[in-house]
Amino acid sequence: MSLPLHASCHLDVGAIGQGTALGWTGGGTRDTECIQTLRLGIDLGMTVVDTAPIYEDGRAEQVVGRALLGRRTEAFLATKFSPEDSRRDDVIRSAEASLRRLRTDWIDLLQVHWPHSTIPLSESLEGMVRLVEQGKVRHLGLGNCTDAQIADAVAGPAGPHLLSVQQEYSLADRTVESGTLPLCNEHQLWLLAYSPLARGKIAPEDPRAAVLMEVAADYECSVAQVVLAWLRRDPCVLPIPRCGRESHLRENAAAATIGLADEDVARIDRAYAMRLEPVSTDEIVVPAGERVYTTLREARENRFELVPGPTDLATKIADGEMLKPIKVAVDRDDPRGLYRLLEGRVRYWAWVIAFDGKRPIPAVIEGLEEG
Ligand code: NAP
Repeated sequence: MSLPLHASCHLDVGAIGQGTALGWTGGGTRDTECIQTLRLGIDLGMTVVDTAPIYEDGRAEQVVGRALLGRRTEAFLATKFSPEDSRRDDVIRSAEASLRRLRTDWIDLLQVHWPHSTIPLSESLEGMVRLVEQGKVRHLGLGNCTDAQIADAVAGPAGPHLLSVQQEYSLADRTVESGTLPLCNEHQLWLLAYSPLARGKIAPEDPRAAVLMEVAADYECSVAQVVLAWLRRDPCVLPIPRCGRESHLRENAAAATIGLADEDVARIDRAYAMRLEPVSTDEIVVPAGERVYTTLREARENRFELVPGPTDLATKIADGEMLKPIKVAVDRDDPRGLYRLLEGRVRYWAWVIAFDGKRPIPAVIEGLEEG
């Protein structure tokens, strides 16, 4: 099973890939298991392997490198560089360090992980193109970019090397459908759908999941397979689920052969229509967490040196740049009926700073029953 080919290359890769983020190796406790699963995934046709220097501080790349020893040509290896390495020479240095960790001479796809808020994307792309010229990288990809950045990059000098865009895309987050997905179709770019299984949280207790269960029963498959098949209804989408368990891996590989009937796609579309609501920023509580600002003062100080920081991003928002909506949930334990912030900790504070807390922020509200 392969995806439509990008105009400038002829690639035959599996329709579903393998992700390696978020505690994939358990900080080293599961290296051997990860190596076995990754190799089995390749045997089953999941040849696109997505990793990044930032995943477990380089460990994920090292484990991928070990898994691919002797099998490098069977995989389509995708990695990234971090925002702090967005200067031209830093992009090159970062990719060279990835090559060492990955124990290979070439990267099939080098992607922008997140664009830097002040370093122009065009500068990073210059470094990326240089790596292609040096033969160290075969194709280029964007990630977490705005549609305007994607369109500019396609039209610029890196355009002929661009193969993909990596954005979050799942039933829980369908933001890409309003702009990025049509752009990918127009320019024949792959959309690498990250967190395709909503980080394992397609909740059975969500009333909408009943539709998924019915469809799964009809196709004699699992709910996760229905979700992956639903994503693949658009041929430019390539989901990259992460899985630790062999049973999950086998399921995900088999999902590449499931084609949903149009009426089933439509039922799922209706049940999971993404509802964006304007929410007053003072009705949102930011729960404490690692590297999370819970007050406006902390956000302005940006002591964790997040890139982009809330103030940098606020400038872009005030200039009219569209961002992915934040996600909130009704906090059922809160007597004041406030919302709890689930995703978008920097975007939330940036919005508050940009509009002085006076403008409601567009949010996806999880757990709202469809009206
Ligand atoms: P995900 O793939 O949506 O979800 C991973 C979770 O789903 C794991 O808990 C896994 O459990 C479970 N799972 C996998 N297959 C399953 C199945 N068949 N049935 C039931 N559960 C299943 O989340 P993710 O890791 O956030 O995203 C995937 C990849 O996208 C990452 O690994 C990374 O490569 C990429 N990513 C990129 C960015 C970016 O900014 N570019 C951000 C996030 C993620 P087990 O481990 O138990 O199998």
